[in-house]
Amino acid sequence: MIAVEGDATQLAREAVRALPRYDARCAPDAIDLSDNINLWGAPPASLRAIGRDHVLACSRYPSLYSEPLRAALLRYVGLQAAREVSVVTGCGSDDVLDAAIRAFGDPGDEVAFPAPTFAMIPIFARLNGLVPVAVPLNDEFDVDAERLVDRGAKITYLCTPNNPTSTALTRETVEYVAANAAGLVIIDEAYAEFAPDTFASLVATHDRLLVTRTFSKAFGLAGLRVGYGVGSEKVADLVTRARGPYKVNALAEAAALAALEVSADAIGWVERHAALAIENRARLAAELRQFGLEALPSAANFLFVPTARAPFLAEALSNRGVLVRAISGLPYNPTVLAAAEGHALRIGVGPWEIMETLLETLREVFACA
Ligand code: PMP
Repeated sequence: MIAVEGDATQLAREAVRALPRYDARCAPDAIDLSDNINLWGAPPASLRAIGRDHVLACSRYPSLYSEPLRAALLRYVGLQAAREVSVVTGCGSDDVLDAAIRAFGDPGDEVAFPAPTFAMIPIFARLNGLVPVAVPLNDEFDVDAERLVDRGAKITYLCTPNNPTSTALTRETVEYVAANAAGLVIIDEAYAEFAPDTFASLVATHDRLLVTRTFSKAFGLAGLRVGYGVGSEKVADLVTRARGPYKVNALAEAAALAALEVSADAIGWVERHAALAIENRARLAAELRQFGLEALPSAANFLFVPTARAPFLAEALSNRGVLVRAISGLPYNPTVLAAAEGHALRIGVGPWEIMETLLETLREVFACA
C-alpha cells in the first residue's frame, strides 16, 4: 500500500474542504415558509402516477435521458415546433445548472452573475474549478447589462425572477445579455410560473443559451427532484453529456409527466395554484406593511423583505413554529440592502390560512418585542 500523508480531509480538493453543508432549517411539525415550495402540495395526477407506477419503477432503471418527459416539456414551453431546440433534464434544476457549468467552463474560467442571486451558483462554480464573479444589482434590482457582458466570462448566469430578491430583470437586460455575452448564457427561471414575463422562447434564436426550470416550485414536486433546461440541440446535448445518464428517477419522471397532462388535476392544478400564489403575495405584502415590513415587488412565490431585524424575527417566529428564511451578509448594493445592514427575510407565499397563521404569529412577536 502506498503511504499517503495526511488524513482524508487533507486529501480532498480545497474547493470541497472550504464548502460548508447547505444549512436549511427543517422542523417536521412547523409551518415551513422557508424554501419557496408549493405550499398547496402536489398535483393529484402526479400522486396517482406514483401510486400506479411504483412497483415496476423501483426495480427497473429509469429512461436514460428522460426521453418521454423531454418531449412533453418542449410542448409545455411552447417550443415543439421550433427547429434545433432540445431539453436536458436533471435531478432538480441544481443538477442541470451544475452540469452546464461543468460542460462549458474549464477550471479557471469565470462564471459572472448579478448579485445577490441563487446561493448555489458560486458554489457550483467553485466545485467545478471556476471563479465566481459577482456584479451588483442596481437600485432598480436590475443589472448593468453592459458591465456584466464586458466581463467576457465563459458563463454568464441570470436568474429571473431572482432568488432571493423575488424581483424580475427587465426584458431589455435579458435580451442584451443573451445577444452579447461572450460564452454560455444561463437564464434560471425556477419561478417562471409566477412571473409576468418569461424567456424560454429566446432559445429558438440564441444558440448559446440555456433556460433552466424546475418541478420543485409551481409544480409542487420538490421532494422528487426534477429540473430541466431548454436550449439549442447542441447546448442541451453538451449539458446532457456532462450530467450523465439515469439522473431523473422513474417515479420522478412519471410524476412530472403526469403533471404536464392537460387536465384540471395536472397542469390545470399547477396553473390554478400559481394564480392563487400571485394573488396571495400581493395580499401578504399589504399585510406585512402594517408591521413596517416592506417587501420588494415580487414576481415569484415568495416575498423578500430587507430588514435589519431579520435574524431576530426569524428566530422569534421559529420559536413559535413558523419557519421563514433569514438571509444575512447580503451585499450593500442595492442601497435598500445597506439600510437593512445586509439582512432580509424571505417568506414563502401559500394558502391564505397559512398566511394568517404567519401574520398572527408576527403579531405575537411584535407584541412581545
Ligand atoms: N434556481 C433557483 C433560483 C432556486 O431558487 C432553486 C431552489 N431554491 C433552484 C434553482 C434549484 O431548484 P431544484 O434543484 O429544486 O430544481
